[in-house]
Amino acid sequence: MSRVALVSGGTRGIGSAIALALKTAGYKVAANYAGNEEKANAFRDVTGIPVFKWDVSSYEACVDGIARVEAELGPVEVLVNNAGITRDAMFHKMSPAQWNEVINTNLTGLFNMTHPVWSGMRDRSFGRIINISSINGQKGQMGQANYSAAKAGDLGFTKALAQEGAAKNITVNAICPGYIATEMVMAVPEKVMNERILPQIPVGRLGQPEEIARCVVFLASDEAGYITGSTISANGGQYFA
Ligand code: NDP
Repeated sequence: MSRVALVSGGTRGIGSAIALALKTAGYKVAANYAGNEEKANAFRDVTGIPVFKWDVSSYEACVDGIARVEAELGPVEVLVNNAGITRDAMFHKMSPAQWNEVINTNLTGLFNMTHPVWSGMRDRSFGRIINISSINGQKGQMGQANYSAAKAGDLGFTKALAQEGAAKNITVNAICPGYIATEMVMAVPEKVMNERILPQIPVGRLGQPEEIARCVVFLASDEAGYITGSTISANGGQYFA
């Protein structure tokens, strides 16, 4: 019987690679998204993966959205908390709205998505939670006090929940990507990319979304059952946590 996997922000970027890799590995996959209908519909049409729109920063929307997924596919056994945004600014220019949007999506979104599936995973004595954090949550990044704080929070969440889930065969792990070639990173000005970012990456290139997706497929597998509370750093050697 194939397991059900839900990927937040699963319709483009890293999330779409994760959703596709899980489907290829035999999972029944649902991909959530926030509002980019064009990308979501194109992804659904090409992959056959059903897409579900809701905002992970709203608890009520997550409860409702997950209920829709479970009605269509069955209980969620693998949850990939991938949805994330940036609202970069140096701290002295950062607005409360920039802070709150990033914290609400990138940190509180993990509570909102995980809480509705947690009791079911406990009842069935199986679960896999995989949180997509960031290298910038490990090391901090200027211009990203909001994002760094949220992504560091994701790692604390991962470690605490891993301890709570262990006795119920629920593993909770994190992946910290470095710079991955998605629209989020392509928004970085070319000069900054070439002069400041690429020289910091020992392998000399951006990562590919599929390289993160392969880590997710491994952590979701039955074979990874002894790995919980861990962080996989996938950053081309840029930072050793
Ligand atoms: P993209 O911007 O390419 O895609 C983001 C996805 O998340 C989209 O599907 C988007 O939906 C969805 N999303 C955004 N906000 C919400 C929300 N409130 N509710 C539901 N869905 C939402 O991002 P990436 O693929 O680059 O990043 C994926 C994850 O990886 C993020 O958590 C990011 O922080 C993390 N990461 C990325 C790195 C990189 O180099 N790219 C490096 C380190 C970490 P829609 O299309 O509808 O807008």
